[in-house]
Amino acid sequence: MDIKKLENFLQENNLPKFRLGQIQKAIFTDGAFSFSEITTLSKELREKMESQLRLLSFETEKVLVAKDGQSIKALLKLHDGDLIETVLIAPKPGIWSACISCQVGCAMGCRFCATGKMGFKRDLTAEEITDQVLFWRQYLKLKAKSEKLKAEEVSTIVYMGMGEPFNNWDNVSESIKNLTDEKLFGFGSRSISVSTSGIASGIERMANEFPQINLAISLHFASDKKRDLYMPVNKKDNLESLKNALKGYFTITNRKVFLEYIMLDGINDTALDAKMLADFIYSIGSTHLLHMNLIRYNMTSDPPAGGLQPSSKTRTQIFKQELEKHQVHATIRKSLGEEIKAACGQLAS
Ligand code: SF4
Repeated sequence: MDIKKLENFLQENNLPKFRLGQIQKAIFTDGAFSFSEITTLSKELREKMESQLRLLSFETEKVLVAKDGQSIKALLKLHDGDLIETVLIAPKPGIWSACISCQVGCAMGCRFCATGKMGFKRDLTAEEITDQVLFWRQYLKLKAKSEKLKAEEVSTIVYMGMGEPFNNWDNVSESIKNLTDEKLFGFGSRSISVSTSGIASGIERMANEFPQINLAISLHFASDKKRDLYMPVNKKDNLESLKNALKGYFTITNRKVFLEYIMLDGINDTALDAKMLADFIYSIGSTHLLHMNLIRYNMTSDPPAGGLQPSSKTRTQIFKQELEKHQVHATIRKSLGEEIKAACGQLAS
């Protein structure tokens, strides 16, 4: 829902200001599925809104639900025909996290990522970004209705879908403002996380503009040589530049940062890799503010693209122990949604 368009519509139709609040409440708090449901408005006004405004900026093409019901993926068709994917995950029963996309495709070209293989098509508007959250709110409401249960809420938002948030910062920052606006979505800043492949200037901007929003960094390699090979971003923002960006981030925010590390068999999962990773973490300092998440690689195609395979569970466990030998604590994250290709790095259109 484009709030500015709604405001203009009300102005052009000489409607009083309180109407805006009424409509916003109906859509964002009560989860109305259409303007015609907003019965506090006259029938004539509702019909006019239906013909001139749109509640969601896309059509639903397909929804896939994993067998355990803990992850759901939607394929959405934007007004120009472009397709994006968005995911809803329940890391714990009843706690839903919306993983949203900010671009159609991505220019960053990370070799282990299905989105990266698509190349970049276009940025999403702030409306297209926040509509994914509106879509999941509506989905949960419908789900509850069909199961005759109390509706569950989207609790957290992660910008970890398709695209690099710092490559579309104007729209991403506007979407964050809307998501945290109490008259609109009303999310707390701390329930929103932005994930980057490691754009140093973006990290600095986010620290200044949104110090309370969580930051996650796709680190994946602690050697420039390997990172250069698998993550082209490293040629511009290498580990040294990432280290300095993180130091600056801590100075401004003093907040925890999540470092994501996908475990690739035989590529970044050796004892030497663990040692290099520990050295990198210690070189940043503020180690109490850095949290390592180890995630076994999710295959993007079968047969595996570029020969990339996930590290085995045993090897992942050994890697974690190696890190602990160097006093670095890490959590092995369970990937949800692999079966419906909704896990990290698997989104494409
Ligand atoms: S991992 Fe993120 S930044 Fe890298 S190509 Fe995929 S979507 Fe883009």
